Amino acid sequence: MKEIGHWIDGKNVAGTSGRFADVYNPATGEVQARVALASEAEITAAIDSAAEAQVAWGATNPQRRARVMMEMVRLLNRDMDKLAEVLSAEHGKTFPDAKGDVQRGLEVIEFCVGAPHLLKGEFTDGAGPGIDMYSMRQPLGVVAAITPFNFPAMIPLWKMGPALAAGNAMILKPSERDPSVPLMLAALWQEAGLPDGVLQVINGDKAAVDALLQSETIQAVGFVGSTPIAQYIYEEAARTGKRAQCFGGAKNHMIIMPDADLDQAADALVGAGYGAAGERCMAISVAVPVGEETADKLIEKLVPRIEKLKVGPYTAGDDVDYGPVITKAAKENILRLVQTGIDQGAELVVDGRDFSLQGYEDGFFVGPHLFDRVTPDMDIYKTEIFGPVLSTVRVDTYEEALKLAMDHEYGNGTALYTRDGDTARNFASRVNVGMIGINLPIPVPLAYHTFGGWKKSGFGDLNQHGPDAFRFYTRTKTVTARWPSGIREGGEFNFKAMD
Ligand code: NAD
Repeated sequence: MKEIGHWIDGKNVAGTSGRFADVYNPATGEVQARVALASEAEITAAIDSAAEAQVAWGATNPQRRARVMMEMVRLLNRDMDKLAEVLSAEHGKTFPDAKGDVQRGLEVIEFCVGAPHLLKGEFTDGAGPGIDMYSMRQPLGVVAAITPFNFPAMIPLWKMGPALAAGNAMILKPSERDPSVPLMLAALWQEAGLPDGVLQVINGDKAAVDALLQSETIQAVGFVGSTPIAQYIYEEAARTGKRAQCFGGAKNHMIIMPDADLDQAADALVGAGYGAAGERCMAISVAVPVGEETADKLIEKLVPRIEKLKVGPYTAGDDVDYGPVITKAAKENILRLVQTGIDQGAELVVDGRDFSLQGYEDGFFVGPHLFDRVTPDMDIYKTEIFGPVLSTVRVDTYEEALKLAMDHEYGNGTALYTRDGDTARNFASRVNVGMIGINLPIPVPLAYHTFGGWKKSGFGDLNQHGPDAFRFYTRTKTVTARWPSGIREGGEFNFKAMD
C-alpha cells in the first residue's frame, strides 16, 4: 500500500504518529493509499523549523521573493497535466476540471509576482514640524493554512502565494482526502527556489489542526472548509490571539427573471449545479424562477439537459461531464438528504437514486437530481448538500426572490439572469452575498480581485487573494520620526556641558 507522509524541511518524510487515513480512488471505491496523520509533536517540530527559516526569508528583498513566484508560474505550467492527473485520481473530478483547479491557483501566483508593489508602505512628508510619518508592511512570521478536499491545488495555492510572497513561512494542513497534489506543489516551490523550511506540508486531521491552533508561534490561520469547522477555527484563533480568515459552506441561489434568456439560464444551471458533482462552494444549488410561467418553461428546458449528463470516471476523458463524489459517506449523506426532500413534499423531477455505472459499481457516483416545488422550510433547502442535486423554489416576484437569497444563512455567491439592467443593478446593490454573477452562474473573482462570502460563508474581515491577502499576511508598523537639527545648521566648536 502506498504511504503518503509530510513535506518537512524540503523533504518528503514518513509520519511517525502511527495513525493513518485511507485515500480512495472515488471512481472504483478502492483504497489507493494511506496518508499519515501528524501528531502534536510532529506539528511542533515543523513549526519550530519554519520559524527559523522565516527569519532569512522575511529579510529577503521582495523582488527576490517575487522571482520565486515567477519561476513557480513556469513550473506549474510545465507540470499542469501531471498535477491534474493526480488530482483527478484522488478527487474524482474530470481531467479538464482538474486543470482548471490548477489554473485558478496558478493565476494567484501570477498576481503575486507583483507583490513588491503591494508591500510598499505609506509616507507623509511633514506630518508635524520636522516630523515624518511612514508605515511599513511586515510579514507576520509563521502562518497556518487548513484547506478542503474540493480544490486541492487552487486553494493551497491561494494561501501559499500571498503568504510566501509577503515573507512569511507557512504550515499547510491540506485535506486528508486528497493529499498528494499539495505535496507535489511543495516540491515545485523548492524547485522554484523557495528555501527549505519556509513551506511545510503536514497531513493530518483534527489533532493536527488543534496543535496548529494551540501554537504560540503561529500568527495567523487561513481556513477553507465547512461552516461548523470554519466557525470553530475562527473562535479558537480569537481565543489564542491569532488573526483568522475562515471561509465556510454555501447555498448559492440563481434567480431567473421572466425576461431572461431561458436557454442560456438552463445551460448555466446545468454546468453550475452539476459540474464537479456539485462539490464546489460556488455551485448553484437553488434555482429561483420568478413567475409560474418562467418556472414551467425552465423545468421543461432543464430536464432533457440533465438527463443527457454523462457521469463517469475521469479516465473516460471528454465523455464525462462529472465524476464521483469524494467518499462513500458523502454519497450516503447526499442520498439521505434526497430522501428527506421526497418525505417533506418536494417534487423529484429527475431521480438519480438508482444510478449505477457498469464496471464501477463500488465507485462513489451519484446520478443527477432535480427537485421542483421546494420550500424554505425543507432540509434540502436549508442544508448544503454538496452533491449533484438542484432544488427549484418557485416565487411570484423579484422582491420575494431577493428576500429568499437574503434570508438564507449562507452568503457565498449568487446569480441573476435577466435582460434588464435596472433589475441587475438593484440586485447587485442590495443582496447580502459576497460574490454576484449577472448572467454568469459561477462568479469566482479573478486573482487581482478578492474572493470571500458573507454571513455563515465567511468569518473574518479580509478576503482571499487580491490586495486583501497582502493585508491579511502582513502587519502594519507605523513610524513617527523627528530628527533634531543637525550639522547642517553649522558645527559646534565650544566645549559645553551636556544638558
Ligand atoms: P471540512 O470542513 O470537512 O474540512 C476542511 C479542513 O478542515 C480539512 O483540512 C479537514 O482535515 C479539517 N477538519 C475537518 N474536521 C475538523 C475538525 N473537527 N476540527 C478541525 N479541523 C477539521 O470541509 P471539506 O469537506 O474538506 O470541504 C467541503 C466544504 O468546504 C464545503 O462546505 C464547501 O462549501 C466548503 N468550501 C468553501 C469554500 C469557500 O471559499 N467558502 C471553498 C471551498 C470549499
